[in-house]
Amino acid sequence: MDKNFDAIVIGAGPGGYVCSIRLAQLGLKTACIESRENLGGTCLNVGCIPSKSLLNSSELYHQAEKKFNNLGIEVEKIKLNLSKMMNNKNKSVATLTKGVEFLFKKNKITSLLGKGSILSEDTVTVTDKLGKKTNYKAKNIIISTGSLPTSLPDVKIDEKNIISSTGALSLATVPEDLVVIGGGYIGLELSSVWKRLGSNVTVVEYSDYIVPSIDKDVSAEFLKILTKQGINFKLGSKVTSVRSIQNKAIVDFTNNKSQKREKIECDKVLVAVGRKPNIGDDITQLDIQLDTNKKIKVNDKFETSVKNIYAIGDVINKGPMLAHKAEDEGIAVAEIIAGQAGHVNYDVIPAVIYTSPEVATIGKTEDQLKKDNINYKVGKFPFLANSRAKVNNETDGFVKIIADAITDKVLGVSIINTLAGTMIAELAMAMEFGASSEDIARTCHAHPTHSEAVKEAAMSIDKRPIHF
Ligand SMILES: Cc1cc2nc3c(=O)[nH]c(=O)nc-3n(C[C@H](O)[C@H](O)[C@H](O)COP(=O)(O)OP(=O)(O)OC[C@H]3O[C@@H](n4cnc5c(N)ncnc54)[C@H](O)[C@@H]3O)c2cc1C
Repeated sequence: MDKNFDAIVIGAGPGGYVCSIRLAQLGLKTACIESRENLGGTCLNVGCIPSKSLLNSSELYHQAEKKFNNLGIEVEKIKLNLSKMMNNKNKSVATLTKGVEFLFKKNKITSLLGKGSILSEDTVTVTDKLGKKTNYKAKNIIISTGSLPTSLPDVKIDEKNIISSTGALSLATVPEDLVVIGGGYIGLELSSVWKRLGSNVTVVEYSDYIVPSIDKDVSAEFLKILTKQGINFKLGSKVTSVRSIQNKAIVDFTNNKSQKREKIECDKVLVAVGRKPNIGDDITQLDIQLDTNKKIKVNDKFETSVKNIYAIGDVINKGPMLAHKAEDEGIAVAEIIAGQAGHVNYDVIPAVIYTSPEVATIGKTEDQLKKDNINYKVGKFPFLANSRAKVNNETDGFVKIIADAITDKVLGVSIINTLAGTMIAELAMAMEFGASSEDIARTCHAHPTHSEAVKEAAMSIDKRPIHF
């Protein structure tokens, strides 16, 4: 096999595999190295895809158990078959990872299985499962090694009683009591899954808010909804220790204000306190500069501090750790390497929490705008006043649009609704085109749809909503 490439990509997650495909489309001879058995990275194997499969199945189970009866759908005996649910998830993961293999073949990308390490500006070593090392030459090297779950100091994840998100996606039985440390995206999605399947779930979060990065009123409404669903919250609380005792675990925590100490004994503890960039001496000994969070520093062209070496995705110091951000960077860096003008607009990256209802956000929050001294106006419209949401019994939540007080340009949007993750795309498009709230208010939205609430929220900015 010829060992010379125009580009070698390390990591076949959404950043790396998308980058490889775009490079190949642009005519560059490309190889992609992956140390996992399957392509697709965290996202397809232990992230977005398996979590969304379990969120979907568990929500259907919950609806069949608790909601169908009210709709006149009388089902006699609802029984959970967890191993079948897990098999369905595994089948979806397998189909999608095989799909990436197919796309690699279709685009004539060389797939190198093993661990990649960068020897020099133009040489990458691949160590295969048996320890055999092979060197490959590349004019361009793209690091897309992603991220790994992190833990708290002195808390060791053993994937038995103390688990990471990866463990929480493959439990063999439903834990009676589950403690989730961290009230962020991943912690809340997995709390929802196991709550619906029967666990008694308690979320312990250091901040006074769940998902502290979103607007405070959105966080407060989301908390109200999840509490109503039966998830317990211990906010403003610092976990001081997590111990495993036989088949149980004990979580100790202290309230930040009152200093009151509490402990919970449970079957499983899910540690969901964030993810760390996956870059270390085993990947390269070259002097690639990192920021204080140990993320790779890149410039606007995704160049690292070392010539010919680029980086994208979760491992870099730009944007949120999200699959679609990694994909867009993969496309942009491929186009830049090919001499085109690749670009990612970090001001317009949607983020979605796939609970029920979903929470979708994009752009700036009120707190950020206050900090930047930008005057803004807010339009809000509740789903309680949206006809489609009403007939579907999906009245929780609202659409909130924030626009510049002078120019009326849309600066940020939050949506809490069953379809929020899909609905936010309209706002991403509007913001990408520099739309004003008036542009959205004057755009015809089909009736009856949840999206009419977007139009009404835009109209609310000018205090003229029709249905509220
Ligand atoms: C439970 C969970 C749910 C999530 N849900 C969502 C969601 O709904 N939406 C969303 O946008 N994001 C979600 N994410 C985040 C998303 O998975 C990541 O942002 C995304 O996968 C990052 O892509 P990446 O290509 O940068 O890295 P990764 O997907 O982490 O891929 C990196 C790949 O590089 C490989 N690798 C690392 N080092 C080497 C090496 N030296 N040699 C060869 N290969 C190597 C790894 O094995 C891995 O396969 C979720 C994450 C988790 C954990």
